[in-house]
Amino acid sequence: MSSRNGGQWTDARFHSFVSSTLRAGSRRWPPKYACLAESKTEKKINVKTGRLAQHHLCAECGGEFVSKDVQVDHIKPVVDPKKGFISWDVYIDRMFCEQKNLQTLCKECHKIKSKKERDARKQNT
Ligand SMILES: [Zn+2]
Repeated sequence: MSSRNGGQWTDARFHSFVSSTLRAGSRRWPPKYACLAESKTEKKINVKTGRLAQHHLCAECGGEFVSKDVQVDHIKPVVDPKKGFISWDVYIDRMFCEQKNLQTLCKECHKIKSKKERDARKQNT
């Protein structure tokens, strides 16, 4: 039994609370902005809205996407699929990594990569 939040939260719930809080904070991590800025291609018409919009290059498929359709990916994932969660120290260290470990991916490519990482994690647990 957990003592978190007066015993109302399991350790798993606490873990996901802390990791989502850190993830939210990582949006303000400067190397993330730098990564997005570097992936900028050009302003052109967004085919979906008909408006001029900044586009970004996906490092995986090479397609160009508007800002809301790209995500900054950790090349080396925050949680190593082979080792699983080790400690918050390791987690924080890997989440707030330097720009060289970050890449811009379109949502689709990011989904595929995340799924591969999840599958690899399951095989190791
Ligand atoms: Zn892509």
